[in-house]
Amino acid sequence: MRRYQLGDVVRLKKPHPCGDDRWEITRTGIDFGLKCLGCGRRVMIPRKKFEKRVKEVLVEANTGTVAEQGDLETSR
Ligand SMILES: [Zn+2]
Repeated sequence: MRRYQLGDVVRLKKPHPCGDDRWEITRTGIDFGLKCLGCGRRVMIPRKKFEKRVKEVLVEANTGTVAEQGDLETSR
């Protein structure tokens, strides 16, 4: 099962009443905190419910921040 991180943006199966279906993860744990990117509303839902509702991950927060392998080699 994939891991979700703070700052990830996901698309849920059910759109928010405001019409947007993209949510940013603001908290992880037993409960997940989500912020609607359409209207800015924040909600908390249990992790299991969240994982069932995710349709796709749009943005991975850690993409681009991982050090290149070459950089790690130079420290040896
Ligand atoms: Zn909304």
